[in-house]
Amino acid sequence: RLRVIGLKKHYTDRKVLNGIDLDVYPGQIVALIGSSGSGKSTLLRCVNQVEELTDGQIFLDGEEVSAPGVDQDRIRAQIGLVFQSFNLFGHLSILDNITLALRHVKKMDRASAEEIALGWLKRIGLGDRGDSYPDKISGGQQQRAAIVRAVAMEPKVLLLDEVTSALDPELVGEVLDLIRELKSGGTTILMATHELSFAKEVADWVIFLEHGEIYEQGEAAEFFANPKLPRTIEFLSRMQ
Ligand code: ATP
Ligand code: MG
Repeated sequence: RLRVIGLKKHYTDRKVLNGIDLDVYPGQIVALIGSSGSGKSTLLRCVNQVEELTDGQIFLDGEEVSAPGVDQDRIRAQIGLVFQSFNLFGHLSILDNITLALRHVKKMDRASAEEIALGWLKRIGLGDRGDSYPDKISGGQQQRAAIVRAVAMEPKVLLLDEVTSALDPELVGEVLDLIRELKSGGTTILMATHELSFAKEVADWVIFLEHGEIYEQGEAAEFFANPKLPRTIEFLSRMQ
């Protein structure tokens, strides 16, 4: 499981995260919600170690991955991160985008990496688009390719940062369908999202961030049906 303990992230002029503790158990989906600027993206970037922590620890299956000297490439192979947009390398075909890390980080030979990549592309209905470049497919297709590129690495946890928020509304559904499918396949996911009805449907646990702190959290059905604290109630009513 992923365990975050006492995570703080302070910039010189701003305290963005002020002591976050959370666990994501294998096969769970945990949704991070909260106003713009509450620290959701910063939290995901700290977990993935693209951002240096000010304080705190990140553990993955008992190993402290935030410890000094830990090989960051090895950790990033175990913690996938997909952002809002611009995930794919524009100068590489879809197939090469997916095989890149399999070949260079997992050291697979080209044929094995392509077999895995093609299997994933078929599952998302892009089996015949491997040779296309990202700008030749739709935003929803690009985002699904970005997600399967991360999943193909078999990460221990997949971090998704607002993966639908840059998409045209008619393309959101196909990305959400892929996340549903990953959930049924047992992928462990920590995702920041504005899609509250989706969070309610797929998440096991919901965390509401407010000014870099966990303000309220709970089991998804209960959290949405019975928010207890005033800021949560206000946020949920504003978002609905
Ligand atoms: P959104 O819903 O808009 O995506 P968020 O919850 O993801 O918001 P973050 O992007 O994590 O919020 O930002 C949290 C705060 O951290 C913001 O006020 C932002 O301005 C600040 N911040 C982010 N990066 C830096 C930085 N490099 N230096 C200073 N402040 C930063
Ligand atoms: Mg964000």
